[in-house]
Amino acid sequence: MGRSKGKPAAERLPIGDVGPQLDQAAIGDVWKSHEGEIAELRRLRNFVMDATSPWQGRTIQKSDPHDLTADEIVAMELSRTLTSAWVCADLIAMGFADQAMMICRSMFEGMVVANWVHLNPDQAPERFLEAGTLNDHLEIRMAISNGWISAGEVQAGRLLDPDDLEGLQKKFGRYGEKMWTDPNDLRRLSDKISEGWEEDRRDALLKFRSAALRSHNQTLHATPESLLSKVSEVSVEGLALSIGPAHRGGPGIVAASMALQSAWWTLAEMARLVAIHFGLDIEDELEELIVGGAFVYLPIYDDEARGVGRNDACPCGSGRKFKRCHLGRTRRRMGSKPR
Ligand SMILES: [Zn+2]
Repeated sequence: MGRSKGKPAAERLPIGDVGPQLDQAAIGDVWKSHEGEIAELRRLRNFVMDATSPWQGRTIQKSDPHDLTADEIVAMELSRTLTSAWVCADLIAMGFADQAMMICRSMFEGMVVANWVHLNPDQAPERFLEAGTLNDHLEIRMAISNGWISAGEVQAGRLLDPDDLEGLQKKFGRYGEKMWTDPNDLRRLSDKISEGWEEDRRDALLKFRSAALRSHNQTLHATPESLLSKVSEVSVEGLALSIGPAHRGGPGIVAASMALQSAWWTLAEMARLVAIHFGLDIEDELEELIVGGAFVYLPIYDDEARGVGRNDACPCGSGRKFKRCHLGRTRRRMGSKPR
């Protein structure tokens, strides 16, 4: 290809909007539409942090360093969830809602795993240890084959013998990629942990599960949906692609709604579990926050509430009567005139 004198247009990279500069307009849009939800997520996060650190629950069962207990695993997941919720709120506020959705998937999985550990305190530590042993073996093998360490440096007993290795790979996947729980896929695991849940709560679980398995997963991988979200303009000259926060008018706003709702609900469920598991005295306050949050996250607009009677079921789907739910708390649609 001749490219001696000035590149022809077709050879230019079809990328526009490149750069670390933040699209202030897009961020402004997200903030304007979601300030309340972002604040609510931060409020819940702070509440759970205040209730748990320094530790205010019952004594956590201790173990020797090689043998973790169910208590310790639940506590570790709480720490992971709080950190994720923190970064989720901050990412969304900065315009990175798509990236926040990836974190929501991880939060959902963590909450389900923690519930499973709570229900299976004897089985969980054993499987946790086995999966850890396999991962340790695979990491060391990789380090040896890449020349990062020599086989002689490896402590005796850290590499598995072939039979043990095969057994563990069967259980947890060749690369240790399966979930370490039993069942080891998110669909069956979430069915299992929610068996005793009330209907409303189970419905919410199913809703956020399909978000985690579909939309959040799509964002996590290099799917057409996630690749196309980087296109800000199509023209005969090519595509204009964006690097950085969601561009104005792009999918950022929808992603922000989904991610905020998902992160908030998942954190609320994690807090419920931790309160029960460790006997934290926060249940009343927590439920109050959850009901308050539901008003923020399940908005009912004026036009949706028109004609709904005081004793009818609330159109938000909460299962409560309208008078005990959204009556007097409806929102005006953005762009519509006040009545
Ligand atoms: Zn309602």
